[in-house]
Amino acid sequence: MLLQKRSMTKDIQPGRWDTAVGGHLMPGEEPAVAAVRECVEELGLEPKDLEYLYEYIWVTDWESEWVTTFRVCMNGPFSWDREEIDQVRFWDPDDVAVLAARREVTPNFEHEYLRYRAWQRGVTIHRPSYPIYDLVRCMRCPRLVAFRESIRGKGNNRDAVYWNRPVPGFGDPEGSVLIVGLAPGAHGANRTGRPFTGDAAGELLFRALEDNGLSNGVNGRSRGDGLRLFDTFIVNAVKCVPPDNRPLPQEIRVCSEWLAVEIAMLHRIQRIVCLGRVAFDAVVRMMKDRYPGSGWEHVRFSHGCGVKPEADGPSVVGLYHPSRRNLNTGLLTVEGFLTAFRRVIG
Ligand code: SF4
Repeated sequence: MLLQKRSMTKDIQPGRWDTAVGGHLMPGEEPAVAAVRECVEELGLEPKDLEYLYEYIWVTDWESEWVTTFRVCMNGPFSWDREEIDQVRFWDPDDVAVLAARREVTPNFEHEYLRYRAWQRGVTIHRPSYPIYDLVRCMRCPRLVAFRESIRGKGNNRDAVYWNRPVPGFGDPEGSVLIVGLAPGAHGANRTGRPFTGDAAGELLFRALEDNGLSNGVNGRSRGDGLRLFDTFIVNAVKCVPPDNRPLPQEIRVCSEWLAVEIAMLHRIQRIVCLGRVAFDAVVRMMKDRYPGSGWEHVRFSHGCGVKPEADGPSVVGLYHPSRRNLNTGLLTVEGFLTAFRRVIG
């Protein structure tokens, strides 16, 4: 197993051993393409026959990452940046266990190592997994696919690189609160690739989360802002930006399949907070399908409504969406939203 030793000059985890190659996706880049690029950048060699192993969520105190792991056989010679990396060498896997026990490896590599050894033994580590790889490639709604790919920056975002793909959820996958919005905003989540990030609705929602101790108080304007959610996960009912913020009934229904996967994945959910009628109806329809004849048929949306037909299921509450339109039309006020949110969370 090839590992790299991080330079002592690094701010984060100096002097610790880490995966031989790791990095982040460039906008629009596939994980396998990024892995090849990172190998060339970090080791000076282009790998052949990368083998996809698995993917999972890695949650730290400050962020959640979707990790995709590959392996490849290469003998070197390797070249690396001596300012970033002190050493690169092969280790016997048993010696890696000793390194890990001595805390001489980074925490994310320690987890990666355990996961890899479990994978070798054919053991599944039971952590929530999100089908992120499939979701961000979903093309099931032709109208929305064409629209999301057509959006370009304007105004202050004229030069921004837009995500323009289905927007996956984010937050604490072990959380008890799920917040379901309508769909990505054209120049908000569709730009940044994270729900509610980069628009007015997000600013108000993130303020409400902070007020209730559900976030670390970062403003939520870009994906790399360090925002961390506590006990909370956020998704949209429809993952792709719709024209005029209005998905068609068929599109909502099709995308509900992703929502069902998300709700199944979030196994500790006790409360689902739906922002707006579309999100509320999508969640209720799913509950109706899952628990036929148990009372969901009679549930109707209203601001502040709450239902919990099953003793062992989550409660579902509805609030007006904190959109700029709802604030501008007077349907909602900032204080009204914050108060209602506090009430349903408390
Ligand atoms: S809206 Fe949902 S189902 Fe439709 S293309 Fe986007 S991710 Fe796929």
